[in-house]
Amino acid sequence: MRAFLVNLMPSFLVKFFARAYVAGVGLDCGIKKARDLWERQSIASTIDMLGEEVTNREEVDNIVQIYFSLVKKMKEESFPKHISIKPTSLGLDIDKELCQRNLEEILKVALGEGITVTLDMEDSKYTDATLELYKKLKPNYEFGTVLQSRLFRTKDDVLGLSGLDARVRMCIGVYNEDKSIAYTKKSEMKAKIVEYTKLLLDNHHKVDVATHDHKCIINALEEVEKRGLGPEVAEFQFLLGVPRERIQHELIERGYTVRLYVPFTIEWKCAIAYLRRRLIENPSMIYLGGLDFLGRIIQPLTKRGRKPILPPKPEVVSN
Ligand SMILES: Cc1cc2nc3c(=O)[nH]c(=O)nc-3n(C[C@H](O)[C@H](O)[C@H](O)COP(=O)(O)OP(=O)(O)OC[C@H]3O[C@@H](n4cnc5c(N)ncnc54)[C@H](O)[C@@H]3O)c2cc1C
Repeated sequence: MRAFLVNLMPSFLVKFFARAYVAGVGLDCGIKKARDLWERQSIASTIDMLGEEVTNREEVDNIVQIYFSLVKKMKEESFPKHISIKPTSLGLDIDKELCQRNLEEILKVALGEGITVTLDMEDSKYTDATLELYKKLKPNYEFGTVLQSRLFRTKDDVLGLSGLDARVRMCIGVYNEDKSIAYTKKSEMKAKIVEYTKLLLDNHHKVDVATHDHKCIINALEEVEKRGLGPEVAEFQFLLGVPRERIQHELIERGYTVRLYVPFTIEWKCAIAYLRRRLIENPSMIYLGGLDFLGRIIQPLTKRGRKPILPPKPEVVSN
């Protein structure tokens, strides 16, 4: 029923929602957005490509070539360079070895050009294969991956990274999962982001805290700072299009990297198809998008926002 309704939604309306979240059509748009964010606001980016669902090797090869072109073009740029990649776009669904070879090729070229990489996490049927890939390649390549706090398995997944000196983007996870394997309340998922941030830090990993929730950001930040740690082990990530300028600038002033997820698309129809799928998986995006659109209009009209959002740095008590 939900899929039926979302599929009925006219493309112009989906595009209206998509526009805020997508840099534009073509990899130059992704690069331009990343450059502007850095030059105007000192905000870093991770550029990702939105594609249609990949069903054959030809499509996979095409995506790999686009990533090579992206890396080649980014080489000329002076902003902090980072890309994110979905394992299924490299062929995870078709052949795991093909996916590994593709990822390895991209890692070699990207890291060689000083471009850092994060392997995105998709829905739970890919969690094992994605982590397997990460654990296999991490000893030879410096890159990061993603864990989703909504999944019951995530504590074990954090512990399973032991000794890898991993970089983990910690987010709630955008895919709706069955209640037999995942928390259903947002408050639980967000509490888990903080819990796993602690666990990652205690196990000597680095953490990219990816949430728009102020309280969750503050709690994660406190976990970092009360250990006497800081920007060398943690950064804060947001989606392009979700207005969080104040907290982003406070984090930057405090010395942290703030990174936006900047997706580009090859054609609008891919972004629309991607967004339709996201809306089917997670209809609250319509509500969130609407809420933030309203916020964007109302915020400049109010006096909100004079008081800092972040608390002062905590005292570090040494034993
Ligand atoms: C950099 C980055 C990378 C990510 N990578 C992955 C990944 O690899 N795999 C994965 O499964 N998920 C990924 N996500 C998505 C993430 O899991 C969440 O779905 C998303 O961040 C929303 O969760 P939240 O913690 O902000 O909480 P929410 O409760 O969903 O959001 C808190 C508030 O933020 C605003 N907000 C949040 N999302 C939106 C939105 N889409 N539109 C408008 N306003 C919004 C709203 O004001 C909302 O009230 C990523 C998110 C970020 C920021």
